[in-house]
Amino acid sequence: CGIFAYLNYNVARERRYILEVLLNGLRRLEYRGYDSSGIAIDSDLAPAAAMPEKGRGEGEAGPRGPQPLVFRQEGKIESLVGSVYSEVDEMDINLERTFLVHAGIAHTRWATHGVPSPRNSHPQSSGAGDEFLVVHNGIITNYEVLKETLVRHGFTFESETDTEVIPKLAKFVFDRAHDGEGTVTFSQVVIEVMRQLEGAYALIFKSSHYPNELIACTRGSTLILGVKELSGDTDKPLFHDVKALTANGKPKELFFSSDLCAIVEHTKNYLAIEDNEVVHIKDGSVSILKFDYHNEKPASVQRALSF
Ligand code: GLU
Repeated sequence: CGIFAYLNYNVARERRYILEVLLNGLRRLEYRGYDSSGIAIDSDLAPAAAMPEKGRGEGEAGPRGPQPLVFRQEGKIESLVGSVYSEVDEMDINLERTFLVHAGIAHTRWATHGVPSPRNSHPQSSGAGDEFLVVHNGIITNYEVLKETLVRHGFTFESETDTEVIPKLAKFVFDRAHDGEGTVTFSQVVIEVMRQLEGAYALIFKSSHYPNELIACTRGSTLILGVKELSGDTDKPLFHDVKALTANGKPKELFFSSDLCAIVEHTKNYLAIEDNEVVHIKDGSVSILKFDYHNEKPASVQRALSF
């Protein structure tokens, strides 16, 4: 029922700090109601060590980011917090490690399909290796037919959620492009996925194939982008084109949330994402595409940040 993401760019942040920003984002969203929650951050493990890629020789795909760490829990945010810190401890994850750039995602779930349980909590995954992770607000009305198709293509489902078809579709689109020896950008993957989805949704995608990038999109569900410039001139961005504003390599923090209340504590520079917009953060820069069923090539749109 709530989604949140945090990406720091060109500014060193400790893993502990990143975790706390994500968990605090979820605490802000609590008032909307939820039955479970979850987050994903990066581990220190190379994905190859965790899982060899199916149908692809070593080095054939683009550089992969680290294997993500996914934490999901039923019940209160504080029980997620407890399990995150105990698992981190058990796995000997270094909370002091700093990241100059890092993309994390978070979710509070209000179950529509499948009982509240860790397995049904988000982020939902593309499968072993967690190549694509998705947090979702809303309902995918045609998930049953998508699920059948994906099962026919060899996917195994682990949850009862409607959401799980989304990361699996993303992997399907990605693998198909690479099997054809082509390449595909993160936004092309997401747009292909959107083409298949019916229903209402706000989504955030994280992928080890596109490290340090995030994509968010919406159809019929509130989604906000927040940009905090760390150069001191935080008042300047008002009404500036978001692409021009962010393509400057300057240190910044970027946020996605389904609710403004989780963003305003960080920045007053925000943008309400419109229906069918696909917002892509890459190299600290934001670009926005407008998805259109009838158009293979989505148009790029210019949007301004405002109070
Ligand atoms: N339909 C999804 C599920 O049941 C998302 C629910 C939500 O918006 O929290 O997992």
